[in-house]
Amino acid sequence: MRMLTSLLLLWSVAAPASSQTAPLHGIDVEDIDRTVDPCANFYEFANGAWRASNPIPASMTRWSKRWQAGETSKEKLKGLLEAAAENRGAAKGSADQLIGDFYGACMDEPRVNARGIEPLKPWFAKIDAARDITALERVMAELHDIGVGVPFFLAGQQDPHRPALVLADIGANGFAMPERDYYLKPEARFKEAREKYQAHVAAMFQLSGWSKKSAADGARVVMGMETKFAEAFLDNVTLRDPAATDHNTTFAQLASMTPHFDWAEYFEHKKLPHDVDLNVDQPKYMAELDRQLQQTALLDWKTYLKWHVLNASVGALPAPFVEEDFAYFGHYLGGAAELKPRWKRCVEASDRLLGEALGKKYVEKYFPPDAKARMQELVRNLLLAMRDDILSRPWMSDETKERAMAKIATFNPKVGYPDAWKDYSSIDIRRDALFEDVVAGRRFGVEDDRRTIGKPVDRGRWGMTPPTSDAYENPLLNEIVFPAGILQPPAFAVDATDAVNYGAIGVVIGHEISHGFDDQGAQFDYLGRLRNWWTDADLKNFTERGACVVDQFDHYEIDGGIHHNGKLVLGESIGDLGGAKLAFLAYQKSLEGKPRPAAIDGFTPEQQFFIAWGQFRGDAIRPEQQRLMVQTDPHPIAKFRVNGPLSNLSEFRDAFRCKAEAAMVRPPESRCEVW
Ligand SMILES: [Zn+2]
Repeated sequence: MRMLTSLLLLWSVAAPASSQTAPLHGIDVEDIDRTVDPCANFYEFANGAWRASNPIPASMTRWSKRWQAGETSKEKLKGLLEAAAENRGAAKGSADQLIGDFYGACMDEPRVNARGIEPLKPWFAKIDAARDITALERVMAELHDIGVGVPFFLAGQQDPHRPALVLADIGANGFAMPERDYYLKPEARFKEAREKYQAHVAAMFQLSGWSKKSAADGARVVMGMETKFAEAFLDNVTLRDPAATDHNTTFAQLASMTPHFDWAEYFEHKKLPHDVDLNVDQPKYMAELDRQLQQTALLDWKTYLKWHVLNASVGALPAPFVEEDFAYFGHYLGGAAELKPRWKRCVEASDRLLGEALGKKYVEKYFPPDAKARMQELVRNLLLAMRDDILSRPWMSDETKERAMAKIATFNPKVGYPDAWKDYSSIDIRRDALFEDVVAGRRFGVEDDRRTIGKPVDRGRWGMTPPTSDAYENPLLNEIVFPAGILQPPAFAVDATDAVNYGAIGVVIGHEISHGFDDQGAQFDYLGRLRNWWTDADLKNFTERGACVVDQFDHYEIDGGIHHNGKLVLGESIGDLGGAKLAFLAYQKSLEGKPRPAAIDGFTPEQQFFIAWGQFRGDAIRPEQQRLMVQTDPHPIAKFRVNGPLSNLSEFRDAFRCKAEAAMVRPPESRCEVW
């Protein structure tokens, strides 16, 4: 069970201050498309002029001031990495040595190209040397150590029934296309994605020296095995149900689920006792794994593992591999016109592998204490709004309200960066060995996670690095987390107007709080236990309110007759709907007893609040990326994240004095309200 519900699936970072000369940073009136009626299409109104004059850059698949800010943050990180790389005398294991040498190795493309696939060879040799499937299973365990987590993975995860403890979770992970439907659906677009994927796998094999014929044969083998794994894999709507992946399992049960895998050897390798608390996400998948261990030829298994080693190593391989990988995943599936510059990919890789070492430097320079204090105040006000909102729900019994209050009281907000930083000093990073550096970094990450298993949960750990422009809610820890990377304009600024701060980051805060009370989060109680705390009548009411949102998003069409899947985006849409309303309530409350803020360019404070949301959230998106998101991402596309929730809100209607028949006003009988 993977329970982090993030704001975005794709991460980036956030932002340049506005060029406004006003003392406070307000909404950007020049970004508004005044030819559009806000009551007809608020997404176009709020940010349409900005999008019209800021086309999506060639290497990006989504674009807005927020994404632009994320890319600007990468320039800040680049500055920090370059400074560290120049500090040649840094002590081994120090932050400067680790991030400086890693970035230096990553930027040394001539060396990476000159080494070719030499660094991969020891791993291919290990695979080739296995004389039988049991020996190959030992190689799988070694691959798991370096983050190549196929055909299953092992990870530490809080026990959903005793959330103070971390159990060993065995998850399914057998294929590399984005989602099971890509393997199984008959539609032409999926069929084409399969053909191109198989050609991509073959191209990667050929680049690693295979003949054209054996590369094509190998790709067919990979496709066949992955398709079988996909057939046994849960669909992405079912995967959103925490109960669907909740299978407490004993070692003996695991061994009988997959008798052809040597679990005793694996547990010994992973230094785990047989009586460790265990969860198996997908038992049906594990049965298919067993069937393949028994029936698939050893040579085919070797081909499959080599593909996944290649696929997981791309970033550390020579340019032709990187370009081939981009051609399929970035260009064909995502729609990006060109690869990001190398420095940006190296910044991203540094953040992934050594994120808290780099992040510590980032927050020291770019995240002042007053930003943290202001953000903590906003979070407090949003939590108060949620409390008031729940208490005022006419459909909820006092009994359920009381339990909801307990949950709000135990919410743990984390802002900016962790209190204790990870110690990476044991990682051996060398300036001349990018591939080995990536292996060492991943090995550290895997081991850092494994060591949590069987221990009391550490509530201080973070699931995102500080420079990340994103936020998440974790129902098992009952926490909401806002890394420093998102706490910049256009989301947030110490010197921004309240309308902007509440309308942008305020809605994000409300969104994350609402996740604690969405279709998933509502299944966890105040201690993070997967346990029903609702009365039957309240639960029925809540579910019906969710069904309204499912129906709303089922009707949103992307292009070519492709619709959003309301059930897939339910949690995020409850988050946006609740977030916009809670932030508006908190904003209204913040105005009490103060002089009314000035209108900006004729826009009232309430209008500014909604415009801030439209400007923060209003991304442009490439058609390919849009189709990919609709298929795989629990987040709706930006247009509907702006227009969807606002068309349900009377507060929006009133602010813009929209007529009852306006497109941004859902008819009363189909208007949704959860929180
Ligand atoms: Zn979310």
